[in-house]
Amino acid sequence: MNSENDILFTPIEFLKGVGPKRAELLKKELGISFFQDLLVHFPFRYVDRTTFRRINEINEGSALFQLKCRIIDKQIIKGANNRSRLQAVAVDDTGMIELLWFQGVKWIDPVIENGKEYIIFGKIESGFGTKKMIHPELEPVTEDSVNRKSILSPVYSTTEKLNSGGLNSRALAKLMENLMFRIELSEIEEFLPEYIIKRLNLITRKKALFQIHFPKNDEQLDAAKTRLKFEELFFLQLRLLLNKIIRKKKIKGYVFGQVGQKFNEFYSEKLKFELTGAQKRVTKEIRSDLRSGIQMNRLLQGDVGSGKTIVALMTMLIGIDNGYQTCIMAPTEILAQQHFNSISELIKGLGINIGFLSGNIKGNVRKSLLASLEAGSIDILVGTHAVIESWVKFHNLGLAIIDEQHRFGVKQRASLWHKSKPLPPHILVMTATPIPRTLSMTIYGDLDVSVIDELPPGRKNIDTIHLNESKRLKLIKFLGNQISLGRQIYVVYPLIEESEKMDLQNLQDGYESMLHHFPRPEYQMSIVHGKMKSPDKDFEMQRFKEGRTQILVSTTVIEVGVDVPNATVMVIENAERFGLSQLHQLRGRVGRGAEQSYCILMSSYKLSKDAKERINTMVRTNNGFEISEVDMQLRGPGDMEGVRQSGLLDLKISNILEDEKILKLARTVCQEILDSDSSLQNPANVRLKNYVNSNRSLFSSWGRIS
Ligand code: ADP
Ligand code: MG
Repeated sequence: MNSENDILFTPIEFLKGVGPKRAELLKKELGISFFQDLLVHFPFRYVDRTTFRRINEINEGSALFQLKCRIIDKQIIKGANNRSRLQAVAVDDTGMIELLWFQGVKWIDPVIENGKEYIIFGKIESGFGTKKMIHPELEPVTEDSVNRKSILSPVYSTTEKLNSGGLNSRALAKLMENLMFRIELSEIEEFLPEYIIKRLNLITRKKALFQIHFPKNDEQLDAAKTRLKFEELFFLQLRLLLNKIIRKKKIKGYVFGQVGQKFNEFYSEKLKFELTGAQKRVTKEIRSDLRSGIQMNRLLQGDVGSGKTIVALMTMLIGIDNGYQTCIMAPTEILAQQHFNSISELIKGLGINIGFLSGNIKGNVRKSLLASLEAGSIDILVGTHAVIESWVKFHNLGLAIIDEQHRFGVKQRASLWHKSKPLPPHILVMTATPIPRTLSMTIYGDLDVSVIDELPPGRKNIDTIHLNESKRLKLIKFLGNQISLGRQIYVVYPLIEESEKMDLQNLQDGYESMLHHFPRPEYQMSIVHGKMKSPDKDFEMQRFKEGRTQILVSTTVIEVGVDVPNATVMVIENAERFGLSQLHQLRGRVGRGAEQSYCILMSSYKLSKDAKERINTMVRTNNGFEISEVDMQLRGPGDMEGVRQSGLLDLKISNILEDEKILKLARTVCQEILDSDSSLQNPANVRLKNYVNSNRSLFSSWGRIS
């Protein structure tokens, strides 16, 4: 499809109605350089421009209305900070409506003329009895605008700069018409194999591209959408699945043939508990990867507290037994430190050398650590992002583990590949943030997946209670009770960058109020937040872990991984300000011992609808997967942890939440094709082969198998 004489590769400047100046603007604002880029600038909405409503029959709500009205008054009103707004009054024979613009006043104002008739399009907002539209679309009534050819007109996203350069949605639609005219008679390359198009009853790519912009009716629009969404999701899956195949065919791995002495000694002497069925199963899955001769790339998913750390450790022991170095990387200093401490404890007496590396390890300590690492005398390196820095050199890294993968980017995972020669190390990534199936098959689609779907026995559900400020004294009394039973308590405050100063103040106030209720020396308290120096943080954390303080007041720095089994209460202040997965992670800090644990969500009295839903979900269930489903419903997939970093969801037309069915179909069809023709040799699949060949950068090492 990259052929030079392809009309779609004509620079956009040469489209009727564009020219050099607008071409510049289109490129800057929308990334449109060629015909083909404009062609896939899809409408984000369509409006039925054939029916007009009357002012007296429309009301506030989410629906969009189209009116035909006369403007009878307009004025610019100067506000504070030199900001002015434009206010206009429009009427039809049934009533009156106010139109308001806060932005773009400069260029809207000259378009509106008193006494003239306009087509007005927007949402009704209420306010003191008058009907209002804020930032409505507006178009003068002309022969053309009233009697449109197609029933559904496209609405395109634009920017303020485009608007002021005369390229509003309507102008873009005009350009799109010109484009359609230019390419009507040309070939537009079909990407999907003919037999797939037939089997799924899809329309051709060319037809879909025409109909997506100018559908004559709902059926045409649906057919176009289905076709283009399928195509997009299909090629996303092709990219993931084919890369997995290429990797498995071509990327050899070190053979960890034996389970040796260290593993066995650990298993029989150090492990204090029976592994859960799920832990045993995933350990087997990992073991079979490690001896296969192919590089492992496995995701280990398991809810908070499901016992991933032991599995990680046993995996590392296998690596060490086979003569290799291993490393485990965590997203925060505290978590890395904690892994270091708990792993050190678990391997005591096994004759294993363990090292710790973070940005705070400096000078001679770092120098000698790096030297031992390169000499091969360190078996396990625990650390933060520092581990992947280029100055960190291993003697023979055979296995790398990434904890809380969603905090790292795909790039960081990839950079571990180069830490070892001649082969890349085996890679195990772990995440405690359960994500819905549809999402994981997209963002982790190139990994094999193991799931720990069982908690260690004896875990009790964490009682989750929602309280508002009026119940604070009750809370204090409850905390006092728990402390008298010998338990420990977390109190967590939100801290976000935008309101950092105020948040830190809140934390400080909260700390002082707790001091007031739980005075020294009878009670001892720790405080931890991200702005503290690392040694101070560690000191405070350590005191809490050793049980020398009963209360830890902190920000979310403790969110992941911290393990203090004696802590039974998690109080989350301003719970309404946290996201669902964050609340769930925080709650996972308690309930790690044998005692009944509690999570108390403190919030203000008045809550938004979404905040209420988040809090109710937490109260209703402890199940991480259920929570992640609700989370995705509320936030949309683009905002889920791990998604943005993956960059995989920069989808043009589909939405993996709404298009779950199409996604699953695309995945199944793609899998079937690759199952029978993994190197795309079958002539029936030649279009797919062409696609891969012309998008080589998306398919690493393709050349090695094709
Ligand atoms: P996570 O999956 O959140 O990383 P951890 O590995 O930190 O979970 O384990 C949580 C706690 O459960 C730890 O204190 C660990 O020692 C304990 N644990 C892990 N596996 C088992 C098991 N099979 N039986 C009992 N306790 C276990
Ligand atoms: Mg963990």
